[in-house]
Amino acid sequence: MKKDYYQILGVSRNATQEEIKRAYRDKAKQYHPDMNPQNKKEAEERFKEISEAYEVLMDPQKRRLYDQYGHDGVSQTFKGGGFSWDDFTHFDDLQDILGNLFGGSIFEDFFGFGRPRTQARSKRGGDIHVILRVSLEEIVSSAKKRFRINRYERCPLCKGKGGTELTTCPQCGGRGQVRTQTRSFFGTFTSVSICPRCQGRGQVIKIPCKKCGGTGRVRVNRTIEIKIPRGVANGQYIVLKGEGHYGMGGNGNILIEFEEKPHEYFERQGYNLYLRLLVPYSRLITGGAVEIPSLNGRKDKIKIPRGSTAPQIIRVKGKGMPRPDGGRTKRADFW
Ligand SMILES: [Zn+2]
Ligand SMILES: [Zn+2]
Repeated sequence: MKKDYYQILGVSRNATQEEIKRAYRDKAKQYHPDMNPQNKKEAEERFKEISEAYEVLMDPQKRRLYDQYGHDGVSQTFKGGGFSWDDFTHFDDLQDILGNLFGGSIFEDFFGFGRPRTQARSKRGGDIHVILRVSLEEIVSSAKKRFRINRYERCPLCKGKGGTELTTCPQCGGRGQVRTQTRSFFGTFTSVSICPRCQGRGQVIKIPCKKCGGTGRVRVNRTIEIKIPRGVANGQYIVLKGEGHYGMGGNGNILIEFEEKPHEYFERQGYNLYLRLLVPYSRLITGGAVEIPSLNGRKDKIKIPRGSTAPQIIRVKGKGMPRPDGGRTKRADFW
């Protein structure tokens, strides 16, 4: 006969999550196997029992199933049909509840598996941000643009290892973890943490690489060439994946943000271009063709109707900034 989860934790059926957490905190300290050296086996079982109850009652969905259908209702939510430590999702709570009193020892020694947090995680290289100032002419012609960066790259001499010869870490003996004994009110506890000497790798460099000093990466100046995306606007950016700083866990990216240089004649608003054109009064009266600048180097001409008044907006279709869909618009303003 399986015991009632509420009874196991000693809480009422309508206990709040806070109350459940508090009850679990007290019981977890009580049944820590390290605190029960005389009857470790039993303490382990009780510890597992309260953790199962905690797992179910802290999860609103599982708790509802349990309230409605009892143990049969929740057992199907466990991977093996019954609770095992693989089903426990509150290791972080345990860490919080018991703090450093409770390191990896219980998970490894009593329940047979280690915590992922004790494993070294290789860091990804950092991103590089670049602001590229581009002219309207460059945007229209999607010109090529070069810029220089200074980035970390994998050391070519040691291939990123930091040294040519590796040896077993003397501090952790190659395990990548170190154990520390803490004596406290509750007794003596063993906690496991990442080895500070080898960062969890289990190996250290015997002779540091001459080129990178053991860091595995070197600073390199590089010239990067990109094609400016046609029609790109102020503040838009592109990402060059894997072109950032080197890291053991993969390279970072380059983020290129575009900044428009102000143009001598044109003012951009969205995909439209505005041009302020001063025309002699006599031309307004007689009308006729007037030359205007353009972004492709050639001069364009617009026709001013006879008897025009100023200010007036003349729209020149299809001469603005390129859009992804191919349309172009240009407007000319004159008076
Ligand atoms: Zn090196
Ligand atoms: Zn080590």
